[in-house]
Amino acid sequence: MRTLMHFIAGRATPGASGRLSDVYDPNTGKVQACVPLASLDEVNAAVADAKAAQVGWAATNPQRRARVMFEFKRLLEVHMDELAHRLSAEHGKVIADSRGDIQRGLEVIEFSCGIPHLLKGEYTQGAGPGIDVYSMRQPLGVVAGITPFNFPAMIPMWMFGPAIACGNAFILKPSERDPSVPIRLAELMIEAGLPPGILNVVHGDKLAVDALLDHPDIKAVSFVGSSDIANQVYARGAAAGKRMQCMGGAKNHGIVLPDADLDQAVADIVGAAYGSAGERCMALPVVTPVGEATAVALREKLIAAIGTLRVGVSTDPDAHYGPVVSAQHKARIEGYIAQGVEEGAELVVDGRGFSLQGSEEGFFLSPTLFDHVKPHMGSYQDEIFGPVLQIVRAETFAEALDLPSRHQYGNGVAIFTRNGDAAREFAEGVEVGMVGINVPIPVPVAYHSFGGWKRSGFGDLNQYGMDGVRFFTRTKTVTQRWPKGGAVTDQSFVIPTMR
Ligand code: NAD
Repeated sequence: MRTLMHFIAGRATPGASGRLSDVYDPNTGKVQACVPLASLDEVNAAVADAKAAQVGWAATNPQRRARVMFEFKRLLEVHMDELAHRLSAEHGKVIADSRGDIQRGLEVIEFSCGIPHLLKGEYTQGAGPGIDVYSMRQPLGVVAGITPFNFPAMIPMWMFGPAIACGNAFILKPSERDPSVPIRLAELMIEAGLPPGILNVVHGDKLAVDALLDHPDIKAVSFVGSSDIANQVYARGAAAGKRMQCMGGAKNHGIVLPDADLDQAVADIVGAAYGSAGERCMALPVVTPVGEATAVALREKLIAAIGTLRVGVSTDPDAHYGPVVSAQHKARIEGYIAQGVEEGAELVVDGRGFSLQGSEEGFFLSPTLFDHVKPHMGSYQDEIFGPVLQIVRAETFAEALDLPSRHQYGNGVAIFTRNGDAAREFAEGVEVGMVGINVPIPVPVAYHSFGGWKRSGFGDLNQYGMDGVRFFTRTKTVTQRWPKGGAVTDQSFVIPTMR
């Protein structure tokens, strides 16, 4: 059995706690490796190394830091295939989708290559007599990121790209379920010229996370995962005086207006609902047709489209999606399907009981479709995070606007229409952080920022883009005066003003 290692101070470091967690191959259902779970002492040692290394890195000029990012981006491209296969083997998503996972992270690295420009402060000449004011963005020191299983390449890069480019040292605590790609990313950063100790990967569970949250030398923590844990992590880190950003779960709605291009909408919705087995925080697990005629036509087309989907192992180039991540998660999704039936929703297509020939022990589920799901149902209110699509019908535009707005989650939403007025009104009014207009998965590009509302995001600043730079730096503002000829001004006991 392979035992994975931490990556600390620029090298693979064996776990010393004696605690291990199994890493499965979701395609076969078998354990393929184990990963060490760090002790408090191991976390503390990693933070101490990072703290010592950070001083030199912060003093390196931003253009040199950008060169490391450029080289890392090149290495990601060179190793794309290897990384994608590694990712699929632990996560279960199909190879093409793993490439997308890496590519979306790479795009944040591309953004981080612009760090010399992004860190430029503001300057005001002549704010008063002989007075100039300027601001600078300085790194925080040692910062940490805690990431979920579903994007083991993209989400670590959302965080460590901007954090490291800004001059911080970074401790990554990736998901223990698919830890291999994060280790490989850290190795490639060293190969790209990053000094040892600036990017560290410490595996672990709640113990390691709490150790990071309580550590006085960790200045900021970025978290992505489920909402209850995001909320707890946010509260604990904030109580310890840290800057926090914690992204949580989701239940994104796709609104279909009567004038939508229905064939295009169905193609988009099916891809966004079932792609990656529904294990995306920007998946579309709810579809809301407006009006009876739209609902009838949409339902018919969805059933037909679902009938063409192919579930397969992650290396199957023809598979639309692969297994879910674990046996427990599969059982949880099946539990929600049973709950939906008990609650009175109509189970139109049942994905349970699916067995893939040759991979009978894999964690597979075929697509499930529910109709006549109602807002009071628990299976609608909760995030299922699997290949389950729920139709929640609305009579009017106002009702369709209300559904995602009133839902506990507010990550993403999409509207399908040809009506610009309606789309504009929807985008302006809906209480959700990211909106797609005829775009099913509106994950913002790397130079904008990613973040949901309500229970999908705790904290202020979003991930990556300028918010990422703001989150991982603090602003210092300098007011300087150089009086002409060294003239002495009278003492004053009044607050200086610009009268
Ligand atoms: P998770 O909450 O189980 O785990 C996330 C991280 O927290 C992991 O590193 C895990 O080891 C750690 N963790 C687990 N239990 C903990 C505890 N009690 N205390 C401290 N840390 C703990 O999430 P997951 O199952 O890995 O990922 C799926 C979830 O993440 C879904 O809810 C999904 O919507 C969400 N997600 C959100 C976004 C977003 O940006 N909003 C993006 C991707 C995934």
